Amino acid sequence: MALRLRGLGAGRAEPVSAEVIVVGAGPAGLTATLYAVRYGLDVAVVSKDIGGQMAKAGWIENYPGFKRISGPELANRMYEHVRSYGVRFFLDEIVAAERKSGFFELKGRSGRLYRGRAVIVAVGARKRRLGVPGEEEFEGRGVSYCAVCDAPLFRGRRVAVIGGGDSAASAALLLAEHASRVYLVHRRGELRAQQYYQRQLASNDRIEILYNKVVEEIKGDSRVKGIVLRDTRSGEKSELAVDGVFVEIGFEPPREFAEKLGLEVDEKGYIKVKPDMSTNVPGIYAAGDCCGGLAGLRQVVTAAAMGAVAATSAYRYLRG
Ligand code: NAP
Repeated sequence: MALRLRGLGAGRAEPVSAEVIVVGAGPAGLTATLYAVRYGLDVAVVSKDIGGQMAKAGWIENYPGFKRISGPELANRMYEHVRSYGVRFFLDEIVAAERKSGFFELKGRSGRLYRGRAVIVAVGARKRRLGVPGEEEFEGRGVSYCAVCDAPLFRGRRVAVIGGGDSAASAALLLAEHASRVYLVHRRGELRAQQYYQRQLASNDRIEILYNKVVEEIKGDSRVKGIVLRDTRSGEKSELAVDGVFVEIGFEPPREFAEKLGLEVDEKGYIKVKPDMSTNVPGIYAAGDCCGGLAGLRQVVTAAAMGAVAATSAYRYLRG
């Protein structure tokens, strides 16, 4: 199902001032906003999209209270919940940031300025690219990074999902509801995905797992027609005819965004936070996947938890 977006800021690009600017509206940003507004803070949210990765997830089955809910539906519910408090949302991307005396000034791609005494960064992480010939060329013409957006386009078709983690497993399971055949292509001999997913993959006769295979090239004419695979043990190459390639090989941290704000990052590029979600810059907090998750977990529930802590810390910072 599609996201129903209502209440997004539009119109003339007047500057926006708030006590807290939340950047990002995935589960971390939305929860941070919910907590901040309930603490009585004046909050504005700036985000490229609503829901982040959550809105692109297939079925979510491990968020308490919902035995099985689609990613877009959970995103809608969180968004509507936060919006019911009258929070201002702006669909925009922050392209520059400056620290002024007593406040931060963020500039959106729209040209609008967002000023806040505190900032909560919850920008998530970007899908990693394979970096093989054909990937860029066929993006949107068979190559996809969002199974939940594109799965229905592949009804009755053959598709490959690349990766061996939870994202790849959940994409393969979702695609199997539409496609006639789903090949899960993984570079090693065992999956990284949760056992729960592995059992579902094994019992789904539309899904075939191809172990120890890497994609060397994505081929096609006007659309994807197949992929060239290399066996990592024998070096043997083979071609697999598919109409779609779903790349699900993890995420990359938003290093550039962190640099704009002068935030310290770890060796992988994730924003360094203390247990209270504070960063090295007083007044800036971070939460969710842009910090690499919580104790290695990158789930909706951990992103939400980090968002709640970040908002609480911002409240203490602003109101003593
Ligand atoms: P991930 O856990 O980092 O797994 C990435 C997978 O892609 C790994 O299997 C990795 O192989 C493979 N890979 C990485 N680079 C590759 C390359 N260049 N070529 C081929 N394969 C490559 O990423 P994820 O699956 O996107 O998950 C990210 C986080 O979100 C995880 O913490 C996950 O638990 C969470 N998540 C949770 C759920 C859920 O609970 N329902 C759903 C989706 C995501 P190796 O195994 O060999 O490293």
